[in-house]
Amino acid sequence: MSITLFEAVSPIELNKRQEEILEIVKGNGPITGEQIAERLSLTRATLRPDLAILTMAGYLDARPRVGYFYSGKKTGQAVIDSMMNMKVKDFQSIPVVVSENISVYDAICQMFLEDVGTLFVVDKNAYLTGVLSRKDLLRTSIGNQDLNHIPVHIIMTRMPNIAFCMKTDGLIQAAQKLIERQIDALPVVLEHPDGYEVIGRLTKTNITRAFLSLADNHDL
Ligand code: ADP
Repeated sequence: MSITLFEAVSPIELNKRQEEILEIVKGNGPITGEQIAERLSLTRATLRPDLAILTMAGYLDARPRVGYFYSGKKTGQAVIDSMMNMKVKDFQSIPVVVSENISVYDAICQMFLEDVGTLFVVDKNAYLTGVLSRKDLLRTSIGNQDLNHIPVHIIMTRMPNIAFCMKTDGLIQAAQKLIERQIDALPVVLEHPDGYEVIGRLTKTNITRAFLSLADNHDL
């Protein structure tokens, strides 16, 4: 039988009994096969194939005369659970904000100095009014205009067309916005009665970092 690439790389699906064994070992390891069997009211022989699978797949480690203990490797379900529980606040970066009236030239300098790809623009009350991307600034620089005399509010993408997120939002929802809108960053905002305060920046790099953190307990 040929094995597809997907089968080769996807984590094995554990059956209910294997999940139960994993829970027992997690809570009680090191524990012998005999003791696990007792807890499940089964014979040691019945459990042997399940213990072999869990050991071969790397979920359990076995030491002679000591017993089984949990290796720390996550099951497929545990990885999905951690992914669904990730919040924007756990991965967001510090935002870089500029005022609406600074020039395109100064915004370009700021982008280089702060080493970011997106600047958020705020009004005099420090509420979000716009977003400036690298290409917004490049586009303006192509013409023969004096960049010192064009304020960024002329060229920015402005409210209400800005996609944003809250710090308590799920990272998956934020990632979905980045993909749907084909943008690199979302401002993380705090809602006030008369505007949105920018408290963070969520970028594709943050999402990549979150993706990597899922692999923490796996061999890379
Ligand atoms: P770049 O243009 O450098 O590739 P983006 O893909 O992030 O960077 O930006 C594409 C366009 O979308 C730009 O015109 C930018 O102003 C706008 N944009 C960027 N971020 C947002 C956002 N959070 N909400 C709405 N528009 C955005």
